Amino acid sequence: MTKKHIFGPVLSRRLGLSLGVDLIPFKTCSYDCAYCECGHTTVKTITRQDFFPADEVIAELRGVLASHPHLDTITLAGSGEPTLARSLGPVIAFVKREYPEYTLSVLTNGSLMTNAGVRDELLPADRVIPTLTSAFQPAFERIHNPHPLLRIEAIIEGFVHFRKIYAGAIWLEVFVIPGVNTTDAELEGLKAAIEQINPDLVQLNTLDRPPAEEWVIAASDAELERVRDVLGRTGIEIAGRKHPVSRASKAMTGTTDLIRATLCRRPSTVEDLVRTTGLSGGEVAKILGVLERGGEVTSQRGTRGVFYAILPEKTSNGDS
Ligand code: SF4
Repeated sequence: MTKKHIFGPVLSRRLGLSLGVDLIPFKTCSYDCAYCECGHTTVKTITRQDFFPADEVIAELRGVLASHPHLDTITLAGSGEPTLARSLGPVIAFVKREYPEYTLSVLTNGSLMTNAGVRDELLPADRVIPTLTSAFQPAFERIHNPHPLLRIEAIIEGFVHFRKIYAGAIWLEVFVIPGVNTTDAELEGLKAAIEQINPDLVQLNTLDRPPAEEWVIAASDAELERVRDVLGRTGIEIAGRKHPVSRASKAMTGTTDLIRATLCRRPSTVEDLVRTTGLSGGEVAKILGVLERGGEVTSQRGTRGVFYAILPEKTSNGDS
């Protein structure tokens, strides 16, 4: 049966074998990032809402977790900002109460860290992965096209407050866009903000899939290494361009549904899908052919090859 809120498990570059949970309708976000792999935001908001009943999400999760699948993490993510959903707290509480053996991660753009209620709801999670790309409003606006009421200074303060009360791991994602947040001044600003936030890990990421806006380019390995050296602290890793090899996702769900679910969240090449699903290239190509002929997927040439994506009208949910 096709699931509305659960996708995968998929093999994530950063998290390993990850069961995704989507709390947000496509594509509702407080940002409209130039690099977003899900296209432009259609509903830009900072108002938390009851998008879907928590019980509906929990019922789906219960069904999947009943068989105790092998997972590296359960991840709250989606093609939108999960902290906008009022179901965030109840879903986190459910997983940690009934399935404490699973690591629970939350991928967030961090913009609602200014909200004490959001910070409290995140406390039981094992790992929170927020994004920070600049400490300055002009670059913040250029990269994220945020809701007009959002100020990066307040968001950084929210991260700092959260660090003080949160015992879990904070993995801070720094998305690197050459020429925008790689100047000396930008990197000094980031360095100071990171020192204040004191995350457990900083992950440098860069463009890997077709972006929402064409001016965004990927950082080279040398550029990422330079950024790492300038930020100059221990606990920085270059997360971009790592492609782990799939081990166990193949057996978890129907192969066509797995490919559909993966493409709903992120455009992927055949090679990406081979890694994510554990299928052979031939099997992936065959399924893509059927989906393409059925009008479910479209293809577009990108820097790493041909990317396949679910056509927008077929998309109900996604990945952040
Ligand atoms: S990358 Fe994440 S935060 Fe940015 S617009 Fe896309 S879903 Fe929102």
